[in-house]
Amino acid sequence: MHRPFLIIAFLSILMQITHAQSKQDNMEQSEAYALVIHGGAGTILKKNMTPELEAAYLAKLTEALEAGYKILQSGGSSMDAVENTIRVMEDSELFNAGKGAVFTNEGKNEMDASIMDGKTLNAGAVGAVTIIKNPISAARKVLEESPHVMLIGAGADDFAKKMQLETVDPKYFFNERRWQQLQKIRNTEKQQLDHSDDKGLNLEKLENNKFGTVGAAALDQHGNLAAGTSTGGMTNKRYGRVGDSPIIGAGTYADNQTCAISCTGHGEFFIRGVVAYDIAALMDYRSMSITQAANEVIHGKLKKMGGQGGAIGVDKSGNIMMDFNTPGMYRGFVRSDGKIEVFIYQQ
Ligand code: ASP
Repeated sequence: MHRPFLIIAFLSILMQITHAQSKQDNMEQSEAYALVIHGGAGTILKKNMTPELEAAYLAKLTEALEAGYKILQSGGSSMDAVENTIRVMEDSELFNAGKGAVFTNEGKNEMDASIMDGKTLNAGAVGAVTIIKNPISAARKVLEESPHVMLIGAGADDFAKKMQLETVDPKYFFNERRWQQLQKIRNTEKQQLDHSDDKGLNLEKLENNKFGTVGAAALDQHGNLAAGTSTGGMTNKRYGRVGDSPIIGAGTYADNQTCAISCTGHGEFFIRGVVAYDIAALMDYRSMSITQAANEVIHGKLKKMGGQGGAIGVDKSGNIMMDFNTPGMYRGFVRSDGKIEVFIYQQ
């Protein structure tokens, strides 16, 4: 007589437990958001840094993380977090992106940027732009408002105007510190050429090893990953040189199945090593963790090729990676708990 009643009661309790469990899963998932950034890797040594400059870098990295964290915390998208975090760094003279972009050999500023949405695998990029205040926003417009992935030069500048993005006089990008860096490199170049037997142009020799690109990778409360990178490229670049930063798979990559990555370093090597995608691919095909995959690429393959630099990233579970084979990398992260951590040198 009581048997059917017992079965119904048992099933109802079971359903309640399952419901509570799934609610808890959702809660756990909604807790897992994270943001990680870099402000460039290179020969960044404490002995060359003043306490004021060091404090300024750490404060700006913190401000950038706060901007992105606010978006993630309120349920915003990883794409919004990445774009807005990068905009903060582009507006600062400290980094080699936007306002602080380095000079080309001709004394101009030509900027590159890209962004990728890990949910749709859609991407947008701009190369060699000269009047766009925030190249990362132009990259996002390419993704959202054009059928293309990458626009370059005058066409990209025109597109940004059409999209009503803020444009500025190229003078806006003038920065005394960057200008002096160019003069120094030009002088070294002149001396090298004067002392070279064949008077040939040895680009390897002329490269400088100070980078400073900015990038961000984020996981939002909805489980979506995104990554973006923005740069002025390399000081003294010429002939319309474009580095890895706007190249999807080299400087930037995001896929909800694996991770979101942004790179910084000597772009030519990152292009040839397809670094950002390689990290994601090792996770996908070889089931590596984000830390293992980055280690393999940055300290293995890239280093063997002679490539200097680093990468930051976050995986689909919110695990954070910040790895580099140079003496330093401006970097930091924040997770759901809101605790911001920023670093410059090797730990
Ligand atoms: N990767 C950038 C480029 O080669 C430079 C950098 O990261 O600082 O253009």
